[in-house]
Amino acid sequence: MQISPLYLNGEWVTTGSARNVTNPATGEVIGAISLAGRDTVARALDDAHDAFSKWRQLPGRSRGGYLNRIAELLDSRKDEIARLITLENGKPMAQSAAEVALSADHLRWFAEEAKRAYGRIVPNQVDGKRHLVIKSPMGVAGAITPWNFPLLLAVRKVAPALAAGCTVVLKPATMTPLCAVAFAECVHASGLPKGVFQLVAGPASEIASELLSNPICRKITFTGSTEVGRQLIAGAAATVKPLSLELGGQAPLIVFDDADLERAVEGALIAKFRNTGQSCIAANRIYAQRGIYNRFVEAFVARVRQMKTGNGLDPGVEIGPLIDREALDKALAHINDAVERGATVLCGGTRIPPETGFFLAPTVIANVPDGAVCLSEETFAPVAAIRAFDTEAEALEQANASIYGLSAYVFTQNLDRAFRCIEALEAGSIGLNDGVPTTSQCPFGGAKQSGWGRELGIEGMEAFLETKHVAMRLSAG
Ligand code: NAP
Repeated sequence: MQISPLYLNGEWVTTGSARNVTNPATGEVIGAISLAGRDTVARALDDAHDAFSKWRQLPGRSRGGYLNRIAELLDSRKDEIARLITLENGKPMAQSAAEVALSADHLRWFAEEAKRAYGRIVPNQVDGKRHLVIKSPMGVAGAITPWNFPLLLAVRKVAPALAAGCTVVLKPATMTPLCAVAFAECVHASGLPKGVFQLVAGPASEIASELLSNPICRKITFTGSTEVGRQLIAGAAATVKPLSLELGGQAPLIVFDDADLERAVEGALIAKFRNTGQSCIAANRIYAQRGIYNRFVEAFVARVRQMKTGNGLDPGVEIGPLIDREALDKALAHINDAVERGATVLCGGTRIPPETGFFLAPTVIANVPDGAVCLSEETFAPVAAIRAFDTEAEALEQANASIYGLSAYVFTQNLDRAFRCIEALEAGSIGLNDGVPTTSQCPFGGAKQSGWGRELGIEGMEAFLETKHVAMRLSAG
C-alpha cells in the first residue's frame, strides 16, 4: 500500500510512521499518510518563516498568478480528485465534483483579491501631519481543517493566506488527508516557492501545541468543532495568538405559511441532506408554520424517500455513508432520544447495510418536542427534525435559542417578513428562499459559539492582514 508523504519545504517527505486511511463506504484501506511529530512542525514553521520574507515582497498580481495556476491544475485533475474525496470522505461523486469546482473558484477569487490589500490615506487633523493606514501580511499561518469538506475547507484558508502574503502550514483531518496531498501536488506543480505552503499530519494536539506555543506562527485558522475551538482559545491565551475559528452550527430552517412550497421543499432538502447531513450549515431544525406544516411535511418526506443511499461512487447516489461508527451512533442516539420524548419517525431512522459502511437511511422525524437533543446539538447526519409553530415571533425565538449562530434559512414570499427575519436571526449567513447560501465572494462564518471571524469574500483575506497606522510629521516647505 502506498504511503502518502508530507510536503515540507518543497520536498516530499515520508516519515517512519503512518496511519491508514479507510473508505467509510466499504471499510477498505485506501491509502496511508505519513505522520510527523512536533519537531517536524517546528522545522516547517522555520522554513515557512524563511520563505515569508520573499513571498510577502512579491506583487499581489504575482501571488495571484500562482493561485490561478493551482486552480488550473486542480481543474486538470478534477475527476481524479473528486474520486479521491468520495473514497476518503464517502460523499456522492456529484458533490465531490462540486467541491473541486468550488475550491478552484475560491482560488481564483483570492487570486484577484491578492491585488487588493488596500490601505487608505486619512486626511490630516493637525497641520504638518499625514496619516497612512497600510495592510501587511501577518506572517506564518497554521491551518487546521476537518474531514467533511476535506479539499474545500483547506483551500478556504490557504488561498486567502497566500493572497495576503502569508506562508502556511496545513494540518488536514486525520481521516481525510489524501485530498490535501493531492492539493499539495498541485501546489508543487504550480512552482510555488519552497516553504510557502507545507503539509503536515500527525497527532492533532501535538501539532496544535506547537502552532500555539511557537512564536514564529503568527496566526491559527481553524475549522472544526466548537469543543476543539474552545481548547484552542484556552491554548492561545498564553501567547495571545490570533485565531480565526469556524466552528459548529445548528441551523434553523423556517418555512412560513406564505412560502413557495416547492422552493421550500427543495431548499430544505439541500440544506439538510447535502454532504449526507455532515455540513456545519446543515439545517438541523426545521420549523414549519401550522398552515403549511402538513403539506410541507408530506412533500418533503416524499422527496426524502426517493433519495438513493449507497457508495458515493455509484451513479445516482445522493446519500453516502457517515464518516465513522461514532457518527452513526450519535445520529441513532439523536433519533432514539426524540422518539422517546414523543416524536414520530416518518421515514428512515435505521442503519442500512452493508455493515462494512456507516449508512443511515435518510430520516425525517416530525413533531419533535422541546428538550430533544437534536434541537440543541449538531446531529451531523441525514436526520431532519421538524416541528410546527404558530407565530413569527415564536419561530424567531426558537430559531435563536441555540449557543450556535452559523447559518439560518427562511422561506417566505413576504418581503416585510423576510427583512424582519434576516435582521432578527442570530446567524452569520442566511439563506432567504435559498438552501445553498455559500459563495466565494461573500463572507462566511458564525455568530455566538459558531466562531470568530469570517472566511471568503473580502473579509477572507483581511483575516491574514495586520493593519498599521503610520503617522508622518512633515516639515514645512
Ligand atoms: P474536530 O474534531 O474539531 O476536528 C477538526 C480538526 O481539528 C481536525 O484536523 C482534527 O484533527 C483537529 N483537532 C482535533 N483535536 C484537536 C486539538 N485538541 N487541537 C487542535 N486540533 C485538533 O471536528 P470534525 O469532527 O473534524 O469536524 C466536524 C465539526 O466541524 C462540526 O462541529 C462542524 O460543524 C464543524 N465545521 C465547521 C465549519 C465552519 O465553517 N464553521 C465547516 C465545517 C465543519 P484530527 O483529524 O487529527 O483529529
